[in-house]
Amino acid sequence: MIFNQFFDEVSSTYTYLISSGKGREALIIDPVLEKVNDYILYLKKLNLRLVKVIDTHIHADHISGLNELYKKTNCVTVMGDKSLSEIVTLRVKDNDKIKIENIELTSIYTPGHTSCSYSFLMNDRIFTGDTLLINGTGRTDFQNGDPVAQYHSLFDRILNLPEETLVFPGHDYNGEKLCTIGRQKRNNPRLQVENVEEYVNIMKNLKLDRPKMMDIAIPANIKGKSI
Ligand code: FE
Repeated sequence: MIFNQFFDEVSSTYTYLISSGKGREALIIDPVLEKVNDYILYLKKLNLRLVKVIDTHIHADHISGLNELYKKTNCVTVMGDKSLSEIVTLRVKDNDKIKIENIELTSIYTPGHTSCSYSFLMNDRIFTGDTLLINGTGRTDFQNGDPVAQYHSLFDRILNLPEETLVFPGHDYNGEKLCTIGRQKRNNPRLQVENVEEYVNIMKNLKLDRPKMMDIAIPANIKGKSI
C-alpha cells in the first residue's frame, strides 16, 4: 500500500494520499489548495491515477484543494451528506463504503466540530478530521458546532474502535503525526471526563480566537475555489 501524509505548515493541516500500489488508483483526504501541485507531482512520480478526493468537513482555516484537484484530474469529489458544498459530486451517509481499486473506506458520521463532519475508517486506521485530534478535539463554536454531538461522536463511535486502531488527525500543531485510540483514551485531556456535561463545560470555556482565514475559507470551500 502507498500511504503518504502531507503537511501544510501554514494551517498545520494533514493531507493523506492512499493507493494500493504504483500505477494504480489513488485517493486523497483533506487536500490544501496551495499544495495541489505537490500532490500532482507525487501522483505523477508514482504513476497514480487520482480517482477520489474527500473533505472530512467544510474547513474554516484553509481553502480546500478539492475543487482544484477535480479540475486537474476529473476525480470524484466526496463529502458527507450534510455538507453545504455546492461542488461535491458524491455525498456519503453514515456507514457508506467509499471504494477505489482494492481499498475501501467506511464513512462514520461524527458531528460536533461542524454538523457536516465525517470520519473515515480504513482497516487498521481512522482519519478523524477535526473530530479527534492528538491530545485535543476540534473546536465546536461555529459552523453548527455542538459539543454534545461531539461527545457522542467521540465516546459512542470513534473511541469504541479497537485500542490499537491508528488515529490520523486533520491537524496537529505540535508535530505529532499519528496516535492510537488506546493512547488517546488514556492521555487526551479532553477525553478524561465522566459525562457529557463535563465535556460541554470544557468546550464552552476554551475562549479561542476566530480562525484568521474563516471569512474567506468557509465561502470558498462551499463554492469550490480553484487556483
Ligand atoms: Fe476544521
